[in-house]
Amino acid sequence: MSRPKYRRVLIKLSGEALLGDLDHGINPAALAKIADELVKAYKVGVELAVVIGGGNIWRGGSDDASGINRVTADNMGMLATIVNSLALQDALEARKIPTRVQTAIEISKLAEPYIPRRAIRHLEKGRIVIFGGGIGSPYFTTDTTAALRSIEIGAGILLKATKVDGVYTDDPHKNKKAVRYESLTFEEAISKRLKIMDTSAFTLCVDNGIPVLVFDLNVAGNIAKAVRGEKVGTLIRH
Ligand code: UDP
Repeated sequence: MSRPKYRRVLIKLSGEALLGDLDHGINPAALAKIADELVKAYKVGVELAVVIGGGNIWRGGSDDASGINRVTADNMGMLATIVNSLALQDALEARKIPTRVQTAIEISKLAEPYIPRRAIRHLEKGRIVIFGGGIGSPYFTTDTTAALRSIEIGAGILLKATKVDGVYTDDPHKNKKAVRYESLTFEEAISKRLKIMDTSAFTLCVDNGIPVLVFDLNVAGNIAKAVRGEKVGTLIRH
């Protein structure tokens, strides 16, 4: 298998990736598929860190339909990301891949606390490190977590695996003439007001020069391709 383009990468998966055909929770087939894709990428020979969202279980944010206050709802969202992290860890270990989960909210019987130096050591030893619990503060997202952790661990790129195969000139579901960009500079993305990720996350990437690759998770082999630096999705960088 060809060599990785990057020494270390961080991949951001949305909680929704675990839904499969469910409308809530964790679909075993979807979990297995993601684990298989991550193993393929790992076997390319890259150091792999993962941030997974929690939207398949609970999402906080501004939606107050539940009647639960924002901070509590966000805390619940962060816990949801820990649930997903543990599920992913289990699926990877079932495939004989060494892993560690580190959480920003301490839950010491289940996972290590987030300690950047220790996370880097795990990565150097070939363990997949999954960061759960967001950044540990409400009013943030797992995109921001992914951006921040990428910077902290010195990842060469943030791989944002999504439902679409990149960034388009317009919403491809609404506008058939929308065209996908192969690559963009941060400056172009900002001037064209393209929504790559939430503003805090994007600003962190821009200010710290972390390239972002947006690509389709549902195409088999895409994460491994991204790790090898092959053409997939849209690359956004300085
Ligand atoms: N969240 C938070 N702080 C963080 C990360 C996440 O408060 O640092 C909460 C927030 O409510 C968010 C939820 O956790 O809606 C789940 O994360 P997200 O919506 O980013 O998950 P995804 O959409 O990727 O599944």
